[in-house]
Parts: sequence; structure tokens; C-alpha cells
Amino acid sequence: MSKPRPAALTRDDSALGGPTSVVETACPLDCPDACSLAVTVRHGKLVSIDGSHGNPVTDGYICAKVRKFGQRVYGPDRLLYPGVRRGRKGEGKFKRVSWDEALERIVDRFEAAKARHGTASILPYSYGGSNGLLTQDNFDAQLWRRYGTSRLARTVCAAPTGAANQALYGKMPSVTYEDYPHAALIVLWGVNPSASGIHLIPFVRDAQERGARLVVVDPRSTPLSRAADLHLAIRPGTDVALALALHRHLFTTGCADERFLAEHTRGADRLRERAEPWTIRAAAETCGLDAAAVDRFAAWYADSSPALIRCGWGLERNRNGGNAAMAVLALPAVGGKFGVRGGGYSMSNSAAWGIERTWIAADEPPTRLVNMNHLGRALTEYTDPPIDVLFVYNCNPAATVPDQRRIVRGLEREDLFTIVFEQVMTDTALYADVVLPATTFLEAYDFAKGYGPISLDLARPVIDAVGEARSNADVFGELCARLGLLAPDEPRGELDLMVRILDDLPGAAGADLRDGVRPAPPFGLRPVQFVDVFPRTPDRKVDLFPEALDAAAPLGLYRFQPDPATDAYPLALISPASDRTISSTLGELPRSDVKLVMHPADAGPRGLSDGDLVRVFNDRAEVHCPLQVVASIRPGTVSLPKGLWRRSTCNGFTATALAPDTLTDIGDGACFNDARVQVASLAVG
Ligand code: SF4
Repeated sequence: MSKPRPAALTRDDSALGGPTSVVETACPLDCPDACSLAVTVRHGKLVSIDGSHGNPVTDGYICAKVRKFGQRVYGPDRLLYPGVRRGRKGEGKFKRVSWDEALERIVDRFEAAKARHGTASILPYSYGGSNGLLTQDNFDAQLWRRYGTSRLARTVCAAPTGAANQALYGKMPSVTYEDYPHAALIVLWGVNPSASGIHLIPFVRDAQERGARLVVVDPRSTPLSRAADLHLAIRPGTDVALALALHRHLFTTGCADERFLAEHTRGADRLRERAEPWTIRAAAETCGLDAAAVDRFAAWYADSSPALIRCGWGLERNRNGGNAAMAVLALPAVGGKFGVRGGGYSMSNSAAWGIERTWIAADEPPTRLVNMNHLGRALTEYTDPPIDVLFVYNCNPAATVPDQRRIVRGLEREDLFTIVFEQVMTDTALYADVVLPATTFLEAYDFAKGYGPISLDLARPVIDAVGEARSNADVFGELCARLGLLAPDEPRGELDLMVRILDDLPGAAGADLRDGVRPAPPFGLRPVQFVDVFPRTPDRKVDLFPEALDAAAPLGLYRFQPDPATDAYPLALISPASDRTISSTLGELPRSDVKLVMHPADAGPRGLSDGDLVRVFNDRAEVHCPLQVVASIRPGTVSLPKGLWRRSTCNGFTATALAPDTLTDIGDGACFNDARVQVASLAVG
């Protein structure tokens, strides 16, 4: 390494070995808020995790999930040593081996797979389990690219909304939490901040106290929907129809901002044409809503300024998810809601910093691309070449990816060599041939990048690695070296990577972080859309009708695909985020809230009562769990929590077993909420 390591990268040794100290760090987990943390450590052991005031948005408080993170760090499921399988696949029996032996086995299996079916027979499989800048897309990406493995389309989440945001606005930075109080109307569309992104709530409440109206679009009632002026309990998968009805209202009532459309957009006529069939009445019928309520929503949106739409991820998890995101995100352009603080749209700001990893040398080779939602298919059906080696890290696909039963069947294949690099013994790790213990964000360096508020903070190790856990950077760097993929002078360790990322950050961000200063992008931390930031499209215009998406979507842009319900499986099963897990992280901890939620109008005719044990089933699988009968969900829709581990239900299957592995219309995302099911008492069988 040529550069000296910055002082900010030196561990606080008093925290690691001395008496009690409180160490400042940040949370890099897959949550928009990226809290600053104050972690209490005594004699090198974690005592408690609290919020600190380093981040003014998260300002001293954190979620209950991360407060409990010590139970993961020291819990019975923690992976402490590398291990090789000793029992049947799925039994979770491993013999402890050294890191050297584990890595040599992996290298041998890589070389054997390469000789037998080529390097595309190796499938790396990862998502945002740790989510920091250091734990993904670094030495791991370098390894996969240089070795020429199959590529992974990481589309299990945020792919449709991301594709829509990219096509419309080139992922222009969006309104941050601090500017919500300026809004006169806030629309929370497919998002429940009480479960994910809790720091948004006080800003919404503040806006309400200042007189803002709140509209919530969600099939369930949530804490904020109960405080809203209007709750539209929409039928899952129909959000595109509701958004198009708002467009039609704007165009036909003269409330479309024609000047803005002429100056800043392309394709408005085509959007208007596609919105034409969606009268208020037609949309209300399709969405299962009261027409008067839809009409009121449309009028409020047309008349309010500043009007702010928070586009969440709930609306994307179905066959129409990409078009729904397109139609929702296009509303502020048609309605002329930009150019004022508190107006426009608010969604993932993950691209706001414009961070590019220019140092990853090789361009992505044109090897086979595997959609991560098709893991079950890939493991059980792909032959050209077959998947011989699966390397899983930063995710737990046996719990989180559609078509769970087929994934488990694939993981049971005796001829599949599975490596799982993880913090705890996940549902997927149980099927591994080699397990490698990974550090948590409390044991290694990382960067926490807020994607609700715009922020970038250093996450520092506050305790030594537990057992023999190692960081992603160290392990992937070493694997690159062992496979002969690194020149002798190329970086390969965690601190080398830190320096490289700091050097590569845009503007003064790297220098600021080295100096212990919280960085800001050139447009500031609270950009006003169309004042401080503009579309990052080639001509800086909003593309309201991207032709490429029109050609790629099954029925074209702004089109609606009908509900997949059948007489046999009439109920829509949704699996929203809960306040217990971050995706499936922390799903190993015991919980008592795992119940199928059903409306009394659906329970009554089925002879079901609150507390019954039920089977939720379709042709793919069945899930056994207790029933909760409550009017907080719309009739015709039932709900199980997202991120459940298999141990959480009575028969070891979760909502992902009932979800099809079909893909969204735009972005090739997962269609979790297209699961259609029937529910019966387990007693009746
Ligand atoms: S998960 Fe989110 S709310 Fe919880 S500590 Fe991390 S950033 Fe904060």
C-alpha cells in the first residue's frame, strides 16, 4: 500500500481492551436511515448499542432491532470458525477446520468446476445483508469478474423502482426527511416507516402539526395510516391503475403543468394517452377502493403545493411493480410539483453520491447472467452449464427468495458444492459444504450510506472479531490471491480497501471522512429537485415515456396485467417488512408475532377464528402457522411477515414458499405479492 493509513482508520484500543468506553460508529445495515451509534464496550465486550447525535436526522435514537444486535454477535447461532460439512445437507453439522484448509478446499473446488464445466458453473450469490460500501462490490466483484463466474442479477428488491427512477430521472437525488415538514401534502405510497425507516416519522408528524395532509396507500392499516387524512387500502398489484387515474385527472382538469412538461420532459403525450382509460371509477373498481376517496385524493394532489410523494418498495413486489413505480414517480412532473422545498418525490437516495468503483479493473465479462429470483430454477434445471458451485454471502436465500421449496431442493443436491460466508448459521448455511464465519459491522470497518437522508459515515470496529470471524474484504482479497488473480503489488486487505474507497469517493467526501468531518455532496444534504439537482438523463429532461421500457414490458408502458387469483386460490398474500428484522437479518431471534393476518370477512366464511392453527397453501407449497383475525387488513388480502426464518413457522416454510418466481414487468424484480393462496384450518386438514 503506497499511502499512509488515515488516523480515522486506527482502532480505538481503549474500547477494545480497556474498561468501559463508548465508541461512536454508524449502522450500515439495509435500512434508509444509517443511524449514528454510541456503542458501550467493557473489557472488549459489547455491552449495549444506543443512538448518538452524530447524525442530526437519526439524532440519538435507534430501532429496537439493532438495540438487540448483541444477541446476534454473541448468540448461539453465531458462526465462530470455518467448518466443513459432516452430516447430511441441511443437518447443519460441521467439523471445525482452519481458515487455510477451508480456503484451499474452495480453491480446489473452483478449479475442479472450471475444468469440468467452465467457470460459469460457479454462481456467486449475494445481496445487501451488510449493505456497507466495504462488504459488497469490492474484492468479491473483482474475484467473480476476473475468474469469469456466472453473473448475478441482484433484483430481489428495489429493481423495479430503481429501473423506473433511472429511466425517468437518471436517479436524481430526492427529497430528504428534513424537508418533509415543508410539504402541504404527503403521500406515503407502499411504505411503512414504522417498520423500516423509523426516523421519517417525526418529520411526517411535524408536517401534520403544521397543517399538512397525509395520504397513505397501503393494503393494511399502519400506525401512520391511522393518523392519516386518507387511507387508501388498495388491492395489491393495482397501484399503477390508481396512479394513472391521478394522471388522467391532472390532464383532463387542466391541472397538468403544461409549461413544465414542455420545458423539462419528453413523452407526456404518450403517457396521457395510456392514462386515458383510467377514469376515477375504473381505477376505484380495479383497486378495490371507494370512488369518492380516489376522487378526493386526485383533487388534493392536483391542488396542493408543496406536494410530496414518498415512493416505497411495497408497490413494486408484483407483476405490475415497474409500471406502478413509473406512474407514481411521473406524477410530480405532470402535476408541476418540483422546484419548491418539500415538493417532488422521495425514494431511495442510494445513488445520490454518485459513487463508482472505478478501480475494479476488469469490465464485467459477458458470462451467463442468472436472475437471483430464479435461484431454485438455476439449481435444479440449468444445464448449460449446470451450477456446480454456489458461493453465498450477505444473504440468506433459503429464507428470502421466491419459490423456497425449489431452492431447498436445489441446495440438497449432493453434486452441488455450496459455500456460505455468514455471521450466523442461517437457513442457507445449514446446507453448506463449507461455512466461513463473517464479521458483523461491529467487528470490521465499513461505510454507512443513508439512502433516506443523504449521509455517509464511517462504521468502525468497536470489538475484536468474535471467534475467527473475518471481514468480506480480507477473505475475498485472499481468495483472489490464492486463485492467482492479483498482481503482487495489488491491494488485498480490509484497510487497503478502506484507503482505496476513500480515495475514490467523489468530491471532498474522502478527505472529510479522514478528518472526521461529516461529508456532504456538492448539491448539499437537502437538495430541492429542479433547483439544486436535475435529472441525470442525457438531456437533463424527464423521460415520461422511455421507449426501451415500453418495448420490454410484457404489455408495454403504463399497462395493467390482471390479478393472478383463481377460484382455488383467491386470496392475495403479501409479506411486508416488520419491526423485527432487517430483511431476514436477526430472524434467528425468537419471536411471537408470526401469524397469518386475515380480515374477519375472510375468516368467517372459512370457519376460522383468531388463534386457530391454519394452513396457507397453493400449488407451490403450504405454510402452517397461527391465525390472527383483525380488521387491519383489507378483505381478500392476507399477510405474513417478510424475512421469516424457516424455524418461525410450524412446518418450516414461509411466505417465500408460496411466492411465484415470476418477474416484474420492468426491472426483473421479485413478485412476492403475486402469491395467491387459500387458507384452511389445520384441524380440518
Ligand atoms: S436498522 Fe435503521 S433504524 Fe435501526 S439502527 Fe440501523 S439505520 Fe438505525
